[in-house]
Amino acid sequence: MSGRHFLQIPGPTNVPDRVLRAIAQPTIDHRGPAFASMAREALDRLRRLFRTKSSVVMYPASGSGGWEAAFVNTLSAGDTVLVPETGHFAVQWRCVAERLGLRVDIVEGDWRRGADVAAVAQRIRDDRGHRIKAVAVVHNETSNGATSDIVEIRRSLDDASHPALLFVDAVSSLGCMPYEHDAWGVDVAICASQKGLMLPPGLGLLAVSERAIAAGASAGLPRAYWDWRPMIAGNQHGMFPTTPATNLMFGLVEALRMLEEEGLPNVFARHQRLGEATRRAVAAWGLDLVCADRKAYSSSVTAVMMPGGHDADDFRQTTLEAFNMSLGAGLGQLKGTTFRIGHIGDFNELMLAGTLSGIEMGLSLAGVPFARGGVTAALDYLAGTAEVGSSAV
Ligand code: PLP
Repeated sequence: MSGRHFLQIPGPTNVPDRVLRAIAQPTIDHRGPAFASMAREALDRLRRLFRTKSSVVMYPASGSGGWEAAFVNTLSAGDTVLVPETGHFAVQWRCVAERLGLRVDIVEGDWRRGADVAAVAQRIRDDRGHRIKAVAVVHNETSNGATSDIVEIRRSLDDASHPALLFVDAVSSLGCMPYEHDAWGVDVAICASQKGLMLPPGLGLLAVSERAIAAGASAGLPRAYWDWRPMIAGNQHGMFPTTPATNLMFGLVEALRMLEEEGLPNVFARHQRLGEATRRAVAAWGLDLVCADRKAYSSSVTAVMMPGGHDADDFRQTTLEAFNMSLGAGLGQLKGTTFRIGHIGDFNELMLAGTLSGIEMGLSLAGVPFARGGVTAALDYLAGTAEVGSSAV
């Protein structure tokens, strides 16, 4: 099809031309001085993005590798991890823990809101014997567009003087919405290259607190590839224990420069604005959001419920065939009944206008009942001409 494909899934996201050009440089010696200085720049900039003075590590991996790295570097078989069930990715993370021989306590959820902080706090208070060794929370649930309040989860640990480590999945929040590794007292944050960092998939990125590193001294799970100790030691000189993803790192440096040039507060405000415009379109169409808690609305992804009797994957197929646009599939128990709109990474007002137009035309073509006017509602908001006091659903 002529024209550009619209990649509106919530990751992998659109890769800016500047980043693509950086990746296209000739590969260099990963033990040479040019690589070392590039790696040090990448790590320094990543520390600024995670907002940490502690260590950042990076593996040629996807986000799931980061999940595993967090566990094997800090915990022992039989340790208990508390996981709030925010949606599909929390459940996947739980599966990784169980396969590694960890025990998982779930704080149940209905996949329509962020972590139930009161329930987490109760479990923490009840755990007087400190059986729970880590709390693992997904900051932005990409499957339903609901965020969790990491500050409140940290508070529940502090209020109970509970020593559990705090792990945060920042895969679809880092570079899209505020994230404060040190100020929030997070021990391990996990991210991946293919979302807010505007890169192709292939880099797993972790911020690691001193406490997490110290926990590694007594951690008993087997670790080889994921062992972050040789990585942290080598990184001081811009070196890696195994072959790093050199060309993705060229792209990473460029992407981090772009985020700093725009200014992180502006990047976050842009995501917030485009998320709000998307939700206004959904409301005007008369469709429901999966996220049922407005305080938890995500700036990077919006998940939408299909009207009963209409298959979300058929609708997505229609937008792909008719308009060359990919929308995100419903995942896990949301498969077939929901679709997701990614407004994340290298994205702006006119790209959103095109995305929402494709959805509105696609709903018509697929015979889905909806009210017209979603695109107009979003454009009015973006142009600053929306009625004062009107807001998303
Ligand atoms: N966590 C979240 C919040 C995600 O959105 C994803 C993937 O989309 C993952 C973890 C898993 O990452 P990966 O697919 O890169 O292994």
